Amino acid sequence: MRELQDELRAYVAWAEEAGLKNLAASRQPPAAGKDQPESASGQRPAASESRTVEAALKLPILDDVRANLGECTRCKLHKGRHSIVFGAGNPRARLMFVGEAPGEDEDLQGIPFVGRAGQLLTKMIEGMGLKREEVYICNTVKCRPPNNRNPEPDELAACEPFLKGQLAAVKPEAIVTLGKFAAQTLLRDSTAISRLRGNWREYEGIPLMPTFHPAYLLRNTGPDEKRKVWDDLKQVMKKLGLPIPKKGES
Ligand code: SF4
Repeated sequence: MRELQDELRAYVAWAEEAGLKNLAASRQPPAAGKDQPESASGQRPAASESRTVEAALKLPILDDVRANLGECTRCKLHKGRHSIVFGAGNPRARLMFVGEAPGEDEDLQGIPFVGRAGQLLTKMIEGMGLKREEVYICNTVKCRPPNNRNPEPDELAACEPFLKGQLAAVKPEAIVTLGKFAAQTLLRDSTAISRLRGNWREYEGIPLMPTFHPAYLLRNTGPDEKRKVWDDLKQVMKKLGLPIPKKGES
């Protein structure tokens, strides 16, 4: 029951931030009524909560987040995009990867992490003993910034409710941020990624492990950086209770 309440709280928080008026309205104080059942403890459940339960049980909420995003023009990044790159993967994933922003390949295909860096990410996921379809992958913003520049603060602010919405819908047990930008943005921490990586933090109450971006690994072909990423992923596997391959098996 507590788990359900936590899920609903996260969902309602997102719904309010994203402006879903039907759910926000359902949080209004209930009119006093004698037909409300009492709980075993004798406390009457708030009518707003029971209406929210109803709403949540009826809604496939990842679809709801996407529907609410619509053909988004909330920030200036919409002007140059081919596609909105919403996110992809298992809507009930235990693990969510968050990157910076869509690149050219992603913008053209509407799917996150499909270029060379995406192929390396797939290998990293498989190294963890998972399939790409088992995890959920998204970015801090859903439209490609011009010339692959970093997203700007107003763009991040406009898009963040939809990242939170995806988190509230998927409810992963852990998040892995890929690269400096995603880690610094979610954590509101300008510490260098070389110091952030490898240390558990939290975002929206969910354990978050920062690690290097696969594109960085493609540029740095030495074994050291790859080993650091593998060390970070092993910490995530441990958190999720996944078997860790012995040396030489990975
Ligand atoms: Fe909308 Fe996000 Fe695209 Fe901005 S980046 S237009 S907020 S979907």
